[in-house]
Amino acid sequence: MKYLIETFGCQMNVHDSERMAGLLEQAGYESTADERDADLIVINTCSVRERAEEKLFTRLGELRQMAIEEGQRPVVAVAGCVAQQEGRHILKRSNAVDVVIGTRNLKRLPMLVERAVEQGAGAAPATIDLDPIDDVSFPLGVVRRSDPVKAYVTIIEGCNEFCAFCVVPYTRGHERMRPVAEILADARHAVDTGAREIQLLGQIVNHYQAPDDPACDFAALLERLNTLDGLERIRFASPHPRHVTPRIIDAMRDLPKVCRHLHLPVQSGSSRMLAAMRRRHTREEYVELVAALREAMPDIALSTDMIVGFAGETERDFEETLSLTAAVRYHSMFSFKYSERPNTLALKRMNDDVPEEEKTRRIVALQGLQKTIQGELHSRAIGRIEPVLVDARSRRRDWELSGRTSGNTVVNFAGRPEWIGTTVAVRITGANPNSLRGESVNS
Ligand code: SF4
Repeated sequence: MKYLIETFGCQMNVHDSERMAGLLEQAGYESTADERDADLIVINTCSVRERAEEKLFTRLGELRQMAIEEGQRPVVAVAGCVAQQEGRHILKRSNAVDVVIGTRNLKRLPMLVERAVEQGAGAAPATIDLDPIDDVSFPLGVVRRSDPVKAYVTIIEGCNEFCAFCVVPYTRGHERMRPVAEILADARHAVDTGAREIQLLGQIVNHYQAPDDPACDFAALLERLNTLDGLERIRFASPHPRHVTPRIIDAMRDLPKVCRHLHLPVQSGSSRMLAAMRRRHTREEYVELVAALREAMPDIALSTDMIVGFAGETERDFEETLSLTAAVRYHSMFSFKYSERPNTLALKRMNDDVPEEEKTRRIVALQGLQKTIQGELHSRAIGRIEPVLVDARSRRRDWELSGRTSGNTVVNFAGRPEWIGTTVAVRITGANPNSLRGESVNS
């Protein structure tokens, strides 16, 4: 039996798909990249941005059409945040689904698809499993990593912050910490099987406190990972600014394996908007935090998430977003137009009152500014020699390799395929808005 997993959304979803792939392979399934060859298709959905539900139903319609043309369809399971959020409603809109599985129930996927696979797609009533299971353990060595060089390791699931715009606490549940013993075993196993970089994942990754060791907070976890032989780099996403402690800054400064990059979501440059968003920090506190990070690590690269057009955002609020962007000078930014999401406080109590054309104008202005800043930062890198961890062949040119600096910037350069998985000293020779070009200094 063959399976195909289609993944939308964030790194957490990518890693959930790696986990589901491992569970299915343990149950005897083989992977395929061809949907016409698949006996089972799992659609791992994301609902953070608008139209996520429509994307799912469009895809289900395509699978239905494929089934009509082929005379039979694969078993279809819907997983991820849209599955958790929409549950039974998915079955009302589509008869092409056999299993709907919630974000906390992934370990039951092989068991849930078993009956549908045995009886044939659509032959048995669809199964829905959305029970909020709090167990965050995952069997060692089962994950089927999609990247040979970088390994994701989840350390926290769920979130207790309830930012006004965010659907995550409703789809992923309350915050649950993984035991540190399990995290270290996962990391050890990943390194033993070829990973050179560990990326720790959690909705508020820096809020970590080990349930099995009161002495192990996030900084202590970084210290313990830093001692792993064979591991070269540690990254993490995403921290919440209000939980970045002096201990974490010290650990980032002092531990050589922790990358000089921090993705530090801010969402708005206006303290008034931050309060409306329930972010629980002000612009001034964020700017102070950036200054403390830069004082400890002058070479640190910062990236962020920004929302424009949140409920009640005035032109003045937006100008504060532009001025914060200009002041911090982020190396990269994910920016979005605000859209209402199900269940959120903003949907229930606030008015989505910024017209769509105005949101578009603001995002174009913000992205234009960010592109200029990124271009300037990249141009300044020309002439430097950067250690680049090579992770793959370049997407555009077969003879080129692609890797990342410690600051998380993509660098493309000519090299040999056997360098994949190693760190190469690269002289930066050219800059594009989203990447750098270079040449190996030891070739
Ligand atoms: S911190 Fe806020 S934005 Fe991040 S996952 Fe939690 S609720 Fe969502």
